[in-house]
Amino acid sequence: MKPPAKPPPKRPSKSTQLAHAARAASESPRTVNLPTDRASTVLFDSLAHMDAEQQRFNRDEQVPTYGIFNMPQAVALENAVAELEGGYRAMSFPSGMAAVSGAILSCVISGDHLLMTDACYDPARHFCDRVLSRFGVETTYYDPTIGADIASLMRPNTKAVYLESPSSITFEVQDIPAIAQVAHEAGASVILDNAWATGMYLDAFGLGVDVVVQPATKYYAGHADALIGLVVARESHWPRVKQTNYHMGQRAGTDETFLTLRGMRTMSVRMQQQSASALRIAEWLQSRPEVEVVNHPALPSHPQHALWMRDFKGASGVFSFSLRSVTQTQLAAFIDHLQCFGLGYSWGGFESLVMASYPTRTVKPWQGGQLVRLSIGLEDVEDLIADLEAGFVRLNGR
Ligand SMILES: *Cc1c(COP(=O)(O)O)cnc(C)c1O
Repeated sequence: MKPPAKPPPKRPSKSTQLAHAARAASESPRTVNLPTDRASTVLFDSLAHMDAEQQRFNRDEQVPTYGIFNMPQAVALENAVAELEGGYRAMSFPSGMAAVSGAILSCVISGDHLLMTDACYDPARHFCDRVLSRFGVETTYYDPTIGADIASLMRPNTKAVYLESPSSITFEVQDIPAIAQVAHEAGASVILDNAWATGMYLDAFGLGVDVVVQPATKYYAGHADALIGLVVARESHWPRVKQTNYHMGQRAGTDETFLTLRGMRTMSVRMQQQSASALRIAEWLQSRPEVEVVNHPALPSHPQHALWMRDFKGASGVFSFSLRSVTQTQLAAFIDHLQCFGLGYSWGGFESLVMASYPTRTVKPWQGGQLVRLSIGLEDVEDLIADLEAGFVRLNGR
């Protein structure tokens, strides 16, 4: 029973005014987009209501109980990404790298063994070598092109095989179904970093992947203004992905969630345009005397072009190339004065980026030389080619 209400004071004190002012819930307009959730706390009507909502939450219904759990905007993004990637459900993380570590931690425990592609995103390698190792999880790196021969590396305690295909600097395409089959026969989970193709161009779950890492910082958000990651799980792997995320207190920020929902609306057209421009530039680079090899899976000359044709529905706008016997001065002359390409890490935004990289490899030394990676944006493709051409003129003058 509620105690009888005291008559309200004629003038609420300043502190009460401050707590209650400007909170009148307006009739919610039927807007196109969801309102932004800014919340730590979710209020309940009564103890019974709180208890009922908590029970629904415990049954895995998408009810909000606290700012970190199931706020409508986060759920909208997670469900949209799960659908696009073809998984059961998804959780958001505060960065792509947090999604990488979260995905791995949901599949291994102390005493387990992880097989990791030697072409992985570098910070993922550091996570394995410097964090997992401290918790008794051993990592073995494998040649990304190993295919079904990965069977020779499986141990009784191998609990997860991690793939990144194509890898984001060297662009090897992995035989996902072959690796997944071996892993599943041994009872191991298959994790794939699907940053490059996204669910637009790769049906990872259809090829046997159990957990998809999606660094949505790249194509989903697409505007170089948000850091966010998602982990998408198959139904069998959903409980552990969700629990790892919750227990580690991971959640994408409100602005990042909003920006990603907004960015996603144009992801299909952005990727189509960037894909077409990137392929055109890759073909042009192949004709340049300064260029040794262009690493782009959609080129027939790519060593795993057939695998890419078999498994992928398209190519995104990121690829790399190596220069013939180039000095550091020549490399700088080429890169430093590019007008359309920003020099920076990351990729997948609307703007073109360039980066020089010499890949880290521990299984067998990298043979492909100094690489230049391009992320092709939405600029006019002829302007981009002219910019690169001027770079070659500078390079040749040194
Ligand atoms: C960028 C990237 C990540 C990490 O994403 P962040 O949001 O920058 O932490 C993970 N994997 C790949 C392949 C990436 O390119």
